[in-house]
Amino acid sequence: MNILFAAAECAPFFKTGGLGDVAEALPKELKKKGLDIRVVLPYHQQMPQKYRDRCEDVLHFYVDVGWRHQYCGVKKLEMDGVIYYFIDNDYYFGREGLYGYYDDGERFAYFQLAVIEMMEKIDFVPDILHSNDYHTAMIPFLIREKYHWIQDYQKIETVLTIHNIEFQGVFSADILPDLFGMGKERYFDGTVRFDDNVNFLKTGILYAGRVNTVSPSYAQEIQTSEFGAGLDGVLRMEKDKLNGILNGINYTLNDPETDPLIPANFSLADLTGKGINKSALQKAMGLPIKEDVPLFAVVSRLTHQKGFQLIMDELEYMMDGDIQLVVLGTGEAGFEQGFRDFAARFPEKCSVSISFNVKLAQLFYAGADVFLMPSAFEPCGLSQMISMRYGTLPIVHEIGGLKDTVIPYNEESGEGTGFGFYEFRSFYLMETIKRAAALYKEKPSVWQQLVKAAMAKDFSWEQPGQAYIELYRLLIEK
Ligand code: ADP
Repeated sequence: MNILFAAAECAPFFKTGGLGDVAEALPKELKKKGLDIRVVLPYHQQMPQKYRDRCEDVLHFYVDVGWRHQYCGVKKLEMDGVIYYFIDNDYYFGREGLYGYYDDGERFAYFQLAVIEMMEKIDFVPDILHSNDYHTAMIPFLIREKYHWIQDYQKIETVLTIHNIEFQGVFSADILPDLFGMGKERYFDGTVRFDDNVNFLKTGILYAGRVNTVSPSYAQEIQTSEFGAGLDGVLRMEKDKLNGILNGINYTLNDPETDPLIPANFSLADLTGKGINKSALQKAMGLPIKEDVPLFAVVSRLTHQKGFQLIMDELEYMMDGDIQLVVLGTGEAGFEQGFRDFAARFPEKCSVSISFNVKLAQLFYAGADVFLMPSAFEPCGLSQMISMRYGTLPIVHEIGGLKDTVIPYNEESGEGTGFGFYEFRSFYLMETIKRAAALYKEKPSVWQQLVKAAMAKDFSWEQPGQAYIELYRLLIEK
C-alpha cells in the first residue's frame, strides 16, 4: 500500500501544534508496519539548517496558480526510513512564520496544486492521499474536478484528518479561477460554498473518501452546533464516512524510565524516583518541600479553550486547602496576570512560571501528583496522556480526547486513571479537586493503585497506527 501524507507542518522540521506532532509520529509508525508512506511538506524557511543540508534536489517544474507561473523545486530527505518531499518556493515559504499571512489562500492553493502535479513527475502515484486540515483539504476536490484527465490519478483514494475544526480556510469565490484556474460551477451549485465563500475544509469533507478526527468523542461532538464551528450540518450529512482515531504520544521522549530531562528516572516497577522529582519540582518552584501535600500542576497554553476561566474562579478557594499549585504556561494576558497575583499572595502554596520551557515541563509531569486540564473542548490533547505516563493523575473535563483517554476514578469499583467532571462549571471542577486532594491524603494505597493504572495504559502510536491502516484498507477494498 502506497500513501502520500500531505501536511503544512511536521516536527522536527517545523511545527506550531498537534498537526506537527501527528505528521512526525504517524508516518514513522506506518513505515514500521511496512507501508510505503511518504510525506510532502512546504519547504518552510524555519527548517533548521542541519535538515536543509541533508536535502537532495530531485527536480523542478512550474505550477500555474491562476495567471501566475510559479517555480516549484522538489527536495527530498530520508529519515528513519520515511521519505519526505519538500515543495520549495521562496516567495511563498521563505517567511518567518508558517501561517497568518494575507496571502495564505494563495500559498496553500499553490502548495496543493504543486503536490498533485509533483506525483506523476516523481513517479509516485499513491493508493491513498492523506490530507490534513484546511491547508491540504482541497486536494481530494482538485484530483476529482481539475486533474481527472490524468488516468493514473483516477484510482487515488483520499482521507482527510481534521486536527482543528476552528481553522477552515475561508476565501472569496474568485479564488477558483484566480488561484486554481477553474470555473465557478462547484461554487454556484453550492458544493464548495459555505456562507458565500469557498470553504477548504467543507470541500475536503465532501470530497474525501474518509474523514477522521483525532479522537472518537470529538468526531461525535463536531456533529453538534456547540462544537462544529458551523460545519456540524455538513458533518452530520457525511457521518457515515466520519470516525475518530486517538493520537498517541511520543514514547521515546516521554518515558519516565529514560527521560534525561528529569532528576530521577522511575518506572511502574520502582516508583521511588517519583518522590525525588516531587521534591525537585517544589524546590525548583520555590515552594516548601512537603511530601504529604498534594501537588497540582498545569502545563498549558493559558487560554479559554483550556478552561482557565474555571480555575481562576476557584483559585481563592483552592488556596484555602492544604495543597500546592505550580503553573507553567503562556497565553492570554488576564490568565498570566491572575496566576502571578495569586503566586504573590500565596507564596507557600502557589508558584508560576510564565514561560515555554520543555525541560521544566518534564519536571512538572514527573514531579506533580495531579495534572489540571479542564478544557472547554479538546480534539485529542496530549498533556493528559503524558502526565498519566509519568504517574500524575489528571483532572479533566470529560470531553473530546480527554473523555477517551482518562478513566475517571470510581469509588465503588476502585478503577480509574484520573478524575473527571462532566458539566463545564467551576463548582464541579472544585468538587473534583477536593475529592482528589482528600483521596491523596486519606487513602494513599488507593492513590498508588490509580498511579499504577495510569502508568500501565498504552498511549503509544501502536494502536492508532493500526487504526489508520484499517481506515486505508477500508477505502482500497471498497
Ligand atoms: P495543544 O496542542 O492544544 O496546546 P496538547 O495537550 O495537545 O495541547 O499539547 C500541548 C503540548 O505542548 C504538550 O506536549 C505540553 O507539554 C506542551 N506545552 C504546553 N505549554 C507548554 C509550556 N509552557 N512549556 C513547555 N511545554 C508546553
